[in-house]
Amino acid sequence: GSFKTAGLHPVMLENVELAGYEYPTPIQKYTIPSILQGYDVIGIAQTGSGKTAAYLIPILSKLMGKAKKLAAYRPNPATFEYGRDEVKAEPLVLVVVPTRELAVQIFNEARKFAYRTMLRPCVVYGGLPIREQINLLSKGCDILIGTPGRLIDFIHRPDKLTLRRLKYIVIDEADEMLDDDWKQELEQILNGGEQDLGNIKFGLFSATFPKAARDLAKDHLAASHVRFR
Ligand code: AMP
Repeated sequence: GSFKTAGLHPVMLENVELAGYEYPTPIQKYTIPSILQGYDVIGIAQTGSGKTAAYLIPILSKLMGKAKKLAAYRPNPATFEYGRDEVKAEPLVLVVVPTRELAVQIFNEARKFAYRTMLRPCVVYGGLPIREQINLLSKGCDILIGTPGRLIDFIHRPDKLTLRRLKYIVIDEADEMLDDDWKQELEQILNGGEQDLGNIKFGLFSATFPKAARDLAKDHLAASHVRFR
């Protein structure tokens, strides 16, 4: 298998090459065609398997075809002035992860794949003053990566963020995310915005596949679209 025959957008193919990825990992071989075809996917994969690229490559590749139409309006960075040019973040992709470290790691991977496109990745997590992240988001955001608590903070600020344009939701390390205390937060994110869940593609990535993850899949992934590795 090679990335070249996967049907990726030419710019994505270049970005994959720039990232130094020669061959898809096993999970990528599986998820790239499925996501390109419009399926929801479940990936049972450990960190180190290439699972981040397994969803970022096909999702961003799909969006590249429509980037001009889809990418949020954003102010000119050269003349940008807070308060005057701020826009509301209207991401197309939402990646929910349990930790700040993972969020940053995924953000860095997203930057590689969004290189030389209209698609702008951004990351939010707790532990930093929210004001800084509001400023970042106010410059435009197409791919939003974040931890649950901070994402909920933003969902409660509909003047700063709306999920109404969302096309993809990825829940990474879902088994951790579904641990007791976080389950409710995750549900809040899934149901709390203005998104149209019926039209959103889902990705569920998890090292294990406990009952809570299976239940989530049952609720949000169309049965005919669910594939197991
Ligand atoms: P992950 O499982 O997403 O944490 O990725 C583990 C590491 O593998 C990261 O450093 C990625 O940059 C790298 N990686 C992902 N896919 C590939 C690939 N197809 N070829 C080479 N390295 C990769």
